[in-house]
Amino acid sequence: MKILVVGSGGREHALCWKLAQNPKVETILCAPGNGGTAQVGENIAVKDDDIPALVALAKTEEVDLVVAGPELPLVLGLENALRQEGIPCFGPNAFAANLEGSKAFSKNVMADAGVPTAPFRVCDDYDEAVAFIREKGAPIVVKADGLAAGKGVIVASSEEEAIEAVHEMMIKKAFGSAGDRVVIEEALAGEEASFLCFCDGTHYAMLPSSQDHKAVYEGDTGPNTGGMGAYSPAPILPKEKYEETAELCIKPILRHLAAKGEPFKGVLYAGLMYTENGPSVLEYNVRFGDPECQPLLMRLETDLLEIMFACIDGKLDQIEVKSSPQTACGVVMAAAGYPGSYPKGMEITGLDEADALDGVKVFQAGTKVDGDRIVTSGGRVLCVTALGDDLAAAQKKAYEAVAKVHFDNSYYRRDIADKGLKRLK
Ligand code: ATP
Repeated sequence: MKILVVGSGGREHALCWKLAQNPKVETILCAPGNGGTAQVGENIAVKDDDIPALVALAKTEEVDLVVAGPELPLVLGLENALRQEGIPCFGPNAFAANLEGSKAFSKNVMADAGVPTAPFRVCDDYDEAVAFIREKGAPIVVKADGLAAGKGVIVASSEEEAIEAVHEMMIKKAFGSAGDRVVIEEALAGEEASFLCFCDGTHYAMLPSSQDHKAVYEGDTGPNTGGMGAYSPAPILPKEKYEETAELCIKPILRHLAAKGEPFKGVLYAGLMYTENGPSVLEYNVRFGDPECQPLLMRLETDLLEIMFACIDGKLDQIEVKSSPQTACGVVMAAAGYPGSYPKGMEITGLDEADALDGVKVFQAGTKVDGDRIVTSGGRVLCVTALGDDLAAAQKKAYEAVAKVHFDNSYYRRDIADKGLKRLK
């Protein structure tokens, strides 16, 4: 079998690595890929948002399956375009992908489907947004409707800050048309966790809980990033609560979209806030999170290819999706300066030594092959991921592996999983 994985992050390296474990998989192509995916398969220089070029590639290469890593190609209709050509794609169609592509759509679906979420108002008009902020008071959250690479959400501690955010989005067009419409919602207090399920349109299979670390600095301070590390399971969301969480946050969405004739197939990711009153959905993503994907796939025991085809064929109820009872912890090594500007082209050493440790896998993100060297080419460079019998063991192993890897100006948080350990105590 030949598979095309779309994307270039640590998530895509993990997807390629896991898919390659199925003996039926002969060839993996990754578009555009990174230094890590180049070791598992072949990188092809096609961008993840170029739908016609991706479809053409899938056709010429006669691939048996396309796997979309990031949200953008799905929102742009990759699944729809491939389906027209008779090529199976893992990931939802463009309508269902709007759960992530439009925050207004997502909040309206949540409200219609009866999913717990913060009270909100969708505003197309600047004055209306300002009036709503004045009415509700601070703290309050302002969200650009469209995709804004994780930067379109402002948790404002004053009315002035919220109004400034609306001004940036709606008047100054800081995110282009993504900010023409905004969602303004109540600020919730609590701890966040991620809950992901494989979905086949009707059925779902739960993955264990996980927790990301968005802020760049230790103690969850500094600007938000794509994610500085993740671990699974997250003690805030223990196994006993998975079923109830799925009933509350996944099942109603599947039912709602199926009733509209737009069944959700792929990974549905609920970003949850655990408040005093229980879980509330902050957002849906329509794909694996990066870096949550890396620890989750380290734990996944069921064959990923089999799961993906079961999702596409609506047969997820016919297989059992199992994860190892172990804990996995992934620490992101970034280039100093990220998420601002950062240097590139630094040689990375020690990857093999880290990989050689028992239960460790280094997933590459912002890397590329340069002759016989691997060099940095992005802000988040690697996600060093380790399995352990418990969270403390997984964390210890991950940092042991991090210590083996070197590149100039590397930066990583030293407190990944501390929050979970504190809760366990
Ligand atoms: P990303 O792309 O980083 O996943 P996003 O841009 O899609 O994020 P959200 O996940 O909706 O946006 O929000 C980003 C972060 O803002 C959340 O992880 C959470 O920390 C915070 N946040 C969002 N909504 C609320 C809320 N109602 N109350 C408090 N914090 C919130």
